[in-house]
Amino acid sequence: MIDFTDKVVLITGGGSGLGRAAALSIAKQGAKLVLVDMNKASLEETKNEVLQASPEAAIELFEANVTNEEEVKNYVQFTVDTFGKIDGFFNNAGIEGKQNLTENYGSDEFEKVISVNLNGVFYGMKHVLKVMKEQGSGSIVNTASVGGIRGVGNQSGYAASKHGVVGLTRNSGVEYGEFGISINAIAPGAIMTPMVEGSLKQIGGDDWEAVGKEFVSVNPMKRFGKPEEVGNLVAFLLSDSSRFINASVINIDGGQSYK
Ligand code: NAD
Repeated sequence: MIDFTDKVVLITGGGSGLGRAAALSIAKQGAKLVLVDMNKASLEETKNEVLQASPEAAIELFEANVTNEEEVKNYVQFTVDTFGKIDGFFNNAGIEGKQNLTENYGSDEFEKVISVNLNGVFYGMKHVLKVMKEQGSGSIVNTASVGGIRGVGNQSGYAASKHGVVGLTRNSGVEYGEFGISINAIAPGAIMTPMVEGSLKQIGGDDWEAVGKEFVSVNPMKRFGKPEEVGNLVAFLLSDSSRFINASVINIDGGQSYK
C-alpha cells in the first residue's frame, strides 16, 4: 500500500514530463511536495495540474539550476525550512543533448550534458543525503535511462552521464543502507514526454510522428511508455512499501532492453 501521509517529497525536473507525472502520482497519496526546475512557468503549470487533481495538496516551487551546487544546497535547505524533513527525493532533472556520432559529438555539448545529468544528480544526492542521514530514514530515486545500461548510439554525453548515474546509485546505495536510506535508479525506455517529442522532431522534422511509430515498432509492447507509468513506479520506490529495494536499477521500457 502506497501512502505518503505526512511525508515530504522533493522532485527535480518537476516542471515537465516524468517529474510532473511523479508529482501528480505522489500528491494523490497525500505527500507534501517541493518541485524544483529551472523553468518557473512550467513549474506553475505542474502546480496547477497537481492542485486540479489533488486540491488539498501542499506544494511549493523552487526555481534552480541543478548544475549549480549553491542552488542545489538552497533547494534542499528550502525544503527542510518549509516542511521540516525530506522523506523522498526524485533526482530527475536532465537533458538529452544533440545526437551525433562520437567523432562529431561537440565537446561543449558533452560537458553540458554531463553537467546537468551527472553533476546535478551528484550534488542533489550529496546534500539530500546529509539531511536523510541525520533523520535516519529516506529514499532516493535517480533517473538513469536505458542509455545508462546499454549502448544506444549517437549519445556520447547522455550515455556517459546515465551510466554515471547508475554508478552513483550503486555506490551510495551500499554506503547508506545501514542508515535506513534506500537509493535506486530507474532506467526508462522511450516515454512520450516533451524531451522525446523534441528528439523525434530533431530526427524527423514534420514527419516526427511517423518516425516515432517506426521507433516503437521494435518495442515488445509496440508503444511509447506513458509518463504516469513512470510516475507510479517512482511513487512505489519512494514509499515505505519498497524499502528493501536498494542500490538497484529498475527498467521501465516495455521489455526493450531484453529483446
Ligand atoms: P522533460 O524535458 O520533459 O523534463 C525535464 C525537466 O528538467 C524540464 O522541466 C527542464 O526544465 C528541467 N531541467 C533541465 N535541465 C535543468 C537544470 N539544469 N536545472 C533544473 N531543471 C532542469 O524530460 P523528461 O523526459 O521528463 O526527462 C526527465 C528525466 O528522465 C531526464 O533525466 C531524462 O534524461 C530521463 N529519461 C527520459 C526518458 C524519456 O523517454 N522521456 C527516457 C529515459 C530517461
